[in-house]
Amino acid sequence: MLNLNDSITTLPGIGEKKGLKFQKLNIFTIEDFLNYFPRKYEDRTVKINLDMIKDGEATSGEGKIIRFQKSYLRNRKTLIKILLSNDEGYFFIKFFNNPYILTQLEIDRKVYFYGKANINHFDIDFINPEIEFDKPSIKTNSIYPIYPLTKGINNNEIIKQIDYIIKNYNIKSLEYLDDELREKFNLMGIPESIVNVHLPENLENLKQARFRCIFDEFFNYCVYLQFQRNKRLEEKGISFAKKDEVKEKIQNLPFRLTNSQKKSLDEILNDMGKNTVMKRLLQGDVGSGKTVIALLTAYNAVLNGYQVAFMVPTEILATQHYNTAINFFENENINITLLVSATKKKNAIYKKISNGDLDVIIGTHALIAEKVSFNNLGYVITDEQHRFGVLQRETLSKKSHYNPDTLVMTATPIPRTLSLILHNDMDISTINELPSGRKKIKTFGYKKSQAKSAYEKVKVEIDKGRQAFIVCPLIEESEKLDLISAKELYKELSNGYLKDYRLALIHGGLKNSDKDRIMRDFEKNNINVLISTTVIEVGINVPNATVLVINDAQRFGLSQLHQLRGRVGRGEYQSYCILLHDAKTNVANERIKTFIQIDDGFEIAKKDLELRGAGEIFGTKQSGQINFKIGDISQNTNILFFAKECTDYVFKDIERNKVMLNKITESMYKNIFIS
Ligand code: ADP
Ligand code: MG
Repeated sequence: MLNLNDSITTLPGIGEKKGLKFQKLNIFTIEDFLNYFPRKYEDRTVKINLDMIKDGEATSGEGKIIRFQKSYLRNRKTLIKILLSNDEGYFFIKFFNNPYILTQLEIDRKVYFYGKANINHFDIDFINPEIEFDKPSIKTNSIYPIYPLTKGINNNEIIKQIDYIIKNYNIKSLEYLDDELREKFNLMGIPESIVNVHLPENLENLKQARFRCIFDEFFNYCVYLQFQRNKRLEEKGISFAKKDEVKEKIQNLPFRLTNSQKKSLDEILNDMGKNTVMKRLLQGDVGSGKTVIALLTAYNAVLNGYQVAFMVPTEILATQHYNTAINFFENENINITLLVSATKKKNAIYKKISNGDLDVIIGTHALIAEKVSFNNLGYVITDEQHRFGVLQRETLSKKSHYNPDTLVMTATPIPRTLSLILHNDMDISTINELPSGRKKIKTFGYKKSQAKSAYEKVKVEIDKGRQAFIVCPLIEESEKLDLISAKELYKELSNGYLKDYRLALIHGGLKNSDKDRIMRDFEKNNINVLISTTVIEVGINVPNATVLVINDAQRFGLSQLHQLRGRVGRGEYQSYCILLHDAKTNVANERIKTFIQIDDGFEIAKKDLELRGAGEIFGTKQSGQINFKIGDISQNTNILFFAKECTDYVFKDIERNKVMLNKITESMYKNIFIS
């Protein structure tokens, strides 16, 4: 009998070499195989009569071999042509370059096949069909699963292995719901669903099986989050007193907080005041002013005598937050440092962190380096949380001797209804208004050929003293893709249309010190136009920038476009966002149109999810978001809601469901931390 954790090399036919190929598909163990789902199915039980079949239509069929013949084509290729007959008449099967089949051929032998018909004037051919002899089996008479493949692995190999596992592993042991719950939730049993999701007996079973597998993923995730939440609420945390200095600080800000900023701030400070552990999501659209809330709450933590760590995904953003914090704490006796991988003399900083000389430490992943140890870390903030993996966030919190409070900030990549479920381990605060005086960003879509009009707008704004961003999807020219690269465009514009202005180029390939210098020059308005890749996507704040031109906008997802658009409109000036695009499909055009019309991040996130199913999305794979293997939150939203209901139900009687809940939580913990 096989075990779930057994390596795939214990399977017949998989040696070292083959094993490496399967690893490319992320299949390492028996369990991985069972969770490797088909991307689609072909209904090979469908049989179309040869009199009715149209050119290009696929069908399964059967026939008796009348005769066959092998011939040579140019460059030594072979053709095997077989004439068959059945009740409907005569037809041909042709194989190119498959001489091995010859050994199987015999006059009068029964052949079963599945393939596309190729209709000529006089006859019907099936070219290179799937074929089986004597009796039909999975290749020619099934709802045939099609798996994602890689070089050196074919579909039938995967089917064969999964079939073997199903027969040699005790799949009954995988059921974790007792009969009563399973019936209450009206679900197919796990053994049956595993069989049917891979090798469906019929379409109805397939439907039920997929439902069960998707349910399991969502349900396990929901249970895990609920468990995490309950566990956290039982732990003892730090109780931070609300300090009056924070109120004073608010009075002295150069602006008044919006109502929803105040509300979020209260929620966070109240939560921090409790002696339980806070884990809170602060979501608010781009430009809604999350940073100041983070800093005010950080201030309160420092006043209580604790250290604060503030982790962000990019060095540019870390540097910017660092500068903002330096300004913010200008009149306070608070020690702040920046810690990124390029930071010099790290050891000295590590020392100051560990002996408590530094109060606020702002940085990138460099904060979770092994050598970093805190004196009394009490509060952990992560910005743009969707960019981090769960593991990275937890690692930072674990560097504390206590159970620190955590705040994670995000510009809502998902709609609220989903957010409540997918972030159920956290409490949520929402900033749902922009600071007053902000003008709506005027958004336009132009065809690529009208780029000049966009750069005309850039000129007008610079002449008024403002600044511009121009974004390109690529750094370098690419032979494969007909897209403008940042380097090309920089050359083109600085020698041509914008030659009288100060331009700079920034992208991820630059040295950090260069990136910093350029960003600082841009902030000081020593640079008029910043040509960049999407490195500016997260969080950059330059209120004097009022025009954003996005090249090849069809390549970006809606939420990403929205993040980019958030780089302008951050101050008092009217701002503009111009999409230069080459949208060819309806979906792409629809996406651009939607984006021009909608300016609310929540709405955009919803639309993005709706359109995502249909259109391909570029560059939105985000490491922090859980990757479901079969479930898709945009397509299977109802199953997600159902899974959450079922979760609430089982948690109502924890005592009864204890064994099951523990089992799920353990395996989820393992999976989340491994992937
Ligand atoms: P985000 O939520 O996208 O992180 P930021 O925190 O970077 O937004 O804030 C965007 C800009 O708005 C900053 O320049 C910040 O100083 C400013 N800001 C924040 N709150 C207010 C407010 N209540 N009134 C006016 N400006 C504000
Ligand atoms: Mg921000």
